[in-house]
Amino acid sequence: MKETVKRFILPENEIPRRWYNIQAEMPNKPMPPLNPATREPLHAEDLYPLFARECVNQELNMTDAWIDIPDEVREKYKYYRSTPLVRAYGLEKALGTPAHIYFKNESVSPMGSHKLNSAIAQAYYCKQEGVTNVTTETGAGQWGASLAYAASLFGIDAAVYQVKISYEQKPYRRSIMQTFGAQVTPSPSMSTRAGKDILTKHPNHQGSLGTAISEAVELARTTPNCKYTLGSVLSHVTLHQTVIGLEAEKQMEMAGEYPDMVIACFGGGSNFGGIAFPFMRHKIAGEEGKAHTRFIAAEPASCPKLTRGEFRYDFGDEAGYTPLLPMYTLGHNFAPANIHAGGLRYHGAGTVVSQLLKDGLMEAVDVEQLESFEAGCLFARAEGIIPAPESCHAIAATIREARKCAESGEEKVILFNLSGHGLIDMASYDKFLAGDLVNYELPDEVIRHNLDQI
Ligand SMILES: *Cc1c(COP(=O)(O)O)cnc(C)c1O
Repeated sequence: MKETVKRFILPENEIPRRWYNIQAEMPNKPMPPLNPATREPLHAEDLYPLFARECVNQELNMTDAWIDIPDEVREKYKYYRSTPLVRAYGLEKALGTPAHIYFKNESVSPMGSHKLNSAIAQAYYCKQEGVTNVTTETGAGQWGASLAYAASLFGIDAAVYQVKISYEQKPYRRSIMQTFGAQVTPSPSMSTRAGKDILTKHPNHQGSLGTAISEAVELARTTPNCKYTLGSVLSHVTLHQTVIGLEAEKQMEMAGEYPDMVIACFGGGSNFGGIAFPFMRHKIAGEEGKAHTRFIAAEPASCPKLTRGEFRYDFGDEAGYTPLLPMYTLGHNFAPANIHAGGLRYHGAGTVVSQLLKDGLMEAVDVEQLESFEAGCLFARAEGIIPAPESCHAIAATIREARKCAESGEEKVILFNLSGHGLIDMASYDKFLAGDLVNYELPDEVIRHNLDQI
């Protein structure tokens, strides 16, 4: 039997020293965020009260393509980076495809997902700037868990608003956050003005990322020395995630290949941008042999902002506290179905990804819930890793492309991001295996109605 290489790992000194800021090189820059009161472009000073200053500067940085990763952040990255690049021989065999399938395994981080890459950076900048408390929202709990751990690494207190339905249905991530010392509150709650307003109107509100963001933003605004952090959507979050793609680029080189397709699941865009942008820079530059790569974002059919939303200015939260962002959106009042990929249930897409989609540099596909779990189970049996329900969408899109290769006989190279493992999401797998999961049809009228309300 011919000996094959399964996993590619970088030595510590090859862990990237800089993140890649695609905003500096995009053919069309994203349109500016707007102050909701004046509708004028936002200035860094407008955001300083809310976020760590360095994060704001990164958010608005349109000129520096490379941004140094602080030594202390890189030291923490060494706890789990580089993450392996894995050749999915088992999946290739199961599909009978000539495609070469690789995945970047971000599930090996201590919190089980890519989110820690940005949580560490954000907690570090807060610590540097003398902040003592951080707050945030979380859906299924991946971001909250990552922030809770990162805050504990730097000796900062974390207060997390968790979407109420996830707080009740997914108790283990709450336990993880509490293990790291975070204070966790189900949202909507009576602890904020925003939460009270929502509960007065809808006493049985199950919560959404939108309600939880409103509450966390309010807490940050009304608490001294407290900053708000976000786990997706914003440009500085995606910037931190480019460590994934920069490593993957070196690892693909070790494998002697270059991807024809780069695929990731899509919630707000951070793991997609994280793996895609370092490769996309070669496409933007039109480099020989690297300009043909396709970039495919896989979103749930029940929350299809990229495939069925509209490109326009909208708020990031339910209460309309956040700046207005130019993005593909389903409307900030959109209440997504209670699908099991909690991390993908957000109404909008980040401004950078939105612009790139508009400009045709990337594509988007939607995946029904049942197809995503079928893909996840096939992958689990073939590769021995239970993927997060979110990551199952990337796997489903990968399988579609690999099957096309099986039909055409083309030996394409596909790279996808395994954004997290699903070991804390087994209740979702139980439901799928018992035949209790369904697809959600989303009528055009519902999307139209929400967009008309903006
Ligand atoms: C949060 C999350 C996502 C979605 O967030 P993005 O910013 O779109 O990457 C995807 N996968 C996992 C495992 C997550 O925790």
